Amino acid sequence: MTDALHIVCPHCHTTNRVRADQLGSAPDCGNCKGALFTGKPLDLTTATFDKHLNRSHIPLLVDFWAPWCGPCRSMAPAYVAATAQLEPHIRVAKVDTEAQQALGARFQIRSIPTLALFVGGREVARQPGAMGQADILRWVKMHLPVRK
Ligand SMILES: [Zn+2]
Repeated sequence: MTDALHIVCPHCHTTNRVRADQLGSAPDCGNCKGALFTGKPLDLTTATFDKHLNRSHIPLLVDFWAPWCGPCRSMAPAYVAATAQLEPHIRVAKVDTEAQQALGARFQIRSIPTLALFVGGREVARQPGAMGQADILRWVKMHLPVRK
């Protein structure tokens, strides 16, 4: 028996069951047929955040940012580059704290950019301040649960 992972679609936010050994084979959504991994950070809103947080079996990395924040904008290309390397084992997302003020308040985001890593629906690490691609990857790997 092969383990099935729940992966929430970045397009229609339906929960898909994906065999663990198929995760790296560019799986599509059974509902909307879109790619479950797009190589780009997913913009989350109040309406979609909890689906990805609670229903997905892979960790969720979130960049809390705002359009007016210069360091956030300069970090964006590094974050996109890191996304390509973190998928499909991690869902990489962004929250615009200007447009989604309820999420910024809920997670008590005091400075931006702030990266937060969620595993099993719980926050396991948080890091304020802009980072380069290598630092983002290193920071995420440092805080992931050890694979057995
Ligand atoms: Zn879909």
